[in-house]
Amino acid sequence: MLESLRASPPWAPRRVWHEWERERDLRLHRFLNEQLYPFSPFYNRLFKEHRIDPRSIRSVRDLRRLPFTTKDDIAPTAEDPARPLELVLRPTEEAIRRDAPRSMALRLGLEKMRQGTEGLRRRLTLEYQPVHVTFTTGRSAQPTQFFYTSLDMERLHVVGKRLLDLCGLQPGDRALNVFPFAPHLAFWQVYAVGQATTVLIVHTGGGKVMGTAGNIAALERLQPTMLIGVPGYVYHMLRQASEKGVRLRGMRFIALGAERVPPALKVRLVDLCAQMGAPGVLVHGVYGFTEARHAWGECRPPDPETSYGYHTYPDFDVFEVVDPASGEVLGPGERGEIVYTSLHGRGSCVLRYRTGDIVEGGLVYDPCPGCGRIVPRICGAISRRSDIGEFHLTKIRGTFVDLNEFLPVMARIREVVEWQLTVQKRNNDPDDLDELILAVALRAGSSADAVTDMIAAQVQAAMEIRPNRIDVVPLAQLEASLGLDTQLKESRIRDLRGR
Ligand SMILES: [Zn+2]
Repeated sequence: MLESLRASPPWAPRRVWHEWERERDLRLHRFLNEQLYPFSPFYNRLFKEHRIDPRSIRSVRDLRRLPFTTKDDIAPTAEDPARPLELVLRPTEEAIRRDAPRSMALRLGLEKMRQGTEGLRRRLTLEYQPVHVTFTTGRSAQPTQFFYTSLDMERLHVVGKRLLDLCGLQPGDRALNVFPFAPHLAFWQVYAVGQATTVLIVHTGGGKVMGTAGNIAALERLQPTMLIGVPGYVYHMLRQASEKGVRLRGMRFIALGAERVPPALKVRLVDLCAQMGAPGVLVHGVYGFTEARHAWGECRPPDPETSYGYHTYPDFDVFEVVDPASGEVLGPGERGEIVYTSLHGRGSCVLRYRTGDIVEGGLVYDPCPGCGRIVPRICGAISRRSDIGEFHLTKIRGTFVDLNEFLPVMARIREVVEWQLTVQKRNNDPDDLDELILAVALRAGSSADAVTDMIAAQVQAAMEIRPNRIDVVPLAQLEASLGLDTQLKESRIRDLRGR
């Protein structure tokens, strides 16, 4: 039986957090000494260059003595396209002899005596051979590969089971997955949910594969309990289904991943489902990134405006939240950048990886008010580096602006059905000023002047900037420009400067 199909997760009993904390520190010490230091070429070098003895890292607190790993440290370059392979654990004979703890070398020596050199090699190949890969998405850097061994695939299944436990799906429920078929974490995490549980999942491949009409047909025929996908596309699809008069007969959950999910968008989705015959749908955010090789779910929310945060897995991960400028580790509940450390697995493992994602409410260790589970929770809105590629923090007319802020602001204005933001140089002249052009499609019957005035005022209030122009355009034109049916990722915010 798959580990993932066994009963409740190991932290379900009512233990207090500091007991888990001790356990997690032990696991960290072991994982660093038995795997990361001896077998990861990248981290072996890093420890040696900084003259850090891995045996001295005994707790999460001690991690502060280690430097961060950034995207730039591991992304492939023109000179070194195989750079991401440096992160993959490789137990070569030399590495075992040189850097593995003595107890481990002894254990492997005994195994060799019993099974022969070939037998041991076969066993290690089974444990360490990558079998699967996903890629980061980004604009400036080349995609970085992250490898999974069969042990990591097994963990992806365990996580799948935990994600469904968190939502409360039951055996026999059905789900429709509209994430694009791609070598990206989101699709494969959902695939693992289906493999590890007793829920039937239909994977359509999203708008690019089946077109929105095909996805709506699947929605109507399957009548899923849960709909899973990227926020912008799920909204687009449900809105079109609603216009076509599709009725929902069993929908209870929506799970959204790969991008931030503003509360106002959750409200819109709940309202849309209610109009289509499914009142009281719960909308869950799912947070994940390629480098961690799995995702975390948001606890069952009491209403779309409340969130109890994303439940992390203390047996698989260590999270820190740091000051993005100084790198100083922050306390519980403090806003900062999410830093990730693998605590488990083979394949590509990272240590103190800076995600670039900013979380408003930091890390919280109190029991969850929603379900009582005692695990570290990532709380509050997460401004994701991956939301709009590499330029979420961009200089507009000399001031740094977080363009991600447009997402919650635009979701709140109900008269706006779709929107797209373009950053460009005036007159296409690289030396001229930056311009922000906002294109919007409005709900029928709205007054264009009144709504554009309201948008300008709300953007000004939230971000202290004003778009240079707000164009009201037909919905079909905007949908085509967003690429909802033609691209893997919608072009919600386009930066045309430097083209
Ligand atoms: Zn909870």
